[in-house]
Amino acid sequence: MIVLGIESSCDETGLALYDTERGLLAHALHSQVAMHEQYGGVVPELASRDHIRRVLPLLETVLEQAGIARSDVDAIAYTQGPGLAGALLVGASIACSLGLALDKPVLGVHHLEGHLLSPLLASSPPEFPFVALLVSGGHTQLMRVDGVGSYALLGETVDDAAGEAFDKSAKLLGLGYPGGPAISRLAEFGNPGAFTLPRPMLHSKNLNFSFSGLKTAVLTLVKNNAANICEQGRADIARAFVEAIVEVLTAKCLAALKETGLKRLVIAGGVGANRQLRDALNEAAARKRFRVFYPELEFCTDNGAMIAFAGAMRLQAQPDAAKREYGFNVRPRWPLEELRIPSGT
Ligand code: ATP
Ligand code: MG
Ligand code: FE
Repeated sequence: MIVLGIESSCDETGLALYDTERGLLAHALHSQVAMHEQYGGVVPELASRDHIRRVLPLLETVLEQAGIARSDVDAIAYTQGPGLAGALLVGASIACSLGLALDKPVLGVHHLEGHLLSPLLASSPPEFPFVALLVSGGHTQLMRVDGVGSYALLGETVDDAAGEAFDKSAKLLGLGYPGGPAISRLAEFGNPGAFTLPRPMLHSKNLNFSFSGLKTAVLTLVKNNAANICEQGRADIARAFVEAIVEVLTAKCLAALKETGLKRLVIAGGVGANRQLRDALNEAAARKRFRVFYPELEFCTDNGAMIAFAGAMRLQAQPDAAKREYGFNVRPRWPLEELRIPSGT
């Protein structure tokens, strides 16, 4: 079965073709980062309009890469939520129009389920069950994953997401958008111990996170040192920020493994691309004897491959999940726990 995946929840247009027998056949991505950069963040209306321009050319690209015709596609999976309403509507409307025109069933996919299952696309994928840390631009959650469609929330951020903290702190340091990769690179040049930032909720007796105070602490440091802030000072602050956030994320992962008794940890979402976080988790995994799995770097941030794959996994678990029903709605807010595969299918 060949599934076409369409991702358009935010500022990346991603298309991909996943074959349940042969694996990923093709994927193509257009990032709008350069377009939004001058505004310091995503402008929703510009995002929607750009998705409209990109989807069909990207569809041609993936069909050509895979060497198949439109009619060879068996089902179309699109990101139904969560995300920006206008951006989601573009993917949903194009998926449903294609479905109608080609007489193929369509299926709305949860964007976070896409992120969550993306490590299964890697060459040595984890087996279920596992603990997943979902660290993206809009979410920071620890989940227990027992199988496709079986997700239990263990803890989540009570305010900002980790990616948001990266982006906002980077902005305070005068780095471009998105700031995650930039602040991570700058931190490599920082002196350890030059500054120390708080580790919010490190010792809370639950698996929740809080990152807005960390961003405020960065703001205070930047303000207090504004007069004499040099390149080295900014690198020192970047280092202190990355160390603080990595320590909290790592500690909570260890606590989640302990609480569940599981020995497999899966990292998903854009912040999962972070070098310092991967180093800390790999080191902890060797020390504490658990295994840690990551998506391929290119599938950490938004992409179509994870949507095609999540759609295919869902269809394998529940073959009637895709329907020849072409009226569509999107779900800008949509808790992942609401995703249940009905029992008996
Ligand atoms: P969500 O999936 O929650 O709706 P999103 O789709 O915007 O949000 P992703 O595409 O998964 O999020 O990830 C984007 C985030 O990842 C941004 O906040 C970005 O700064 C961060 N990010 C990407 N690469 C890195 C990196 N190397 N280090 C730290 N953060 C990074
Ligand atoms: Mg993005
Ligand atoms: Fe995302």
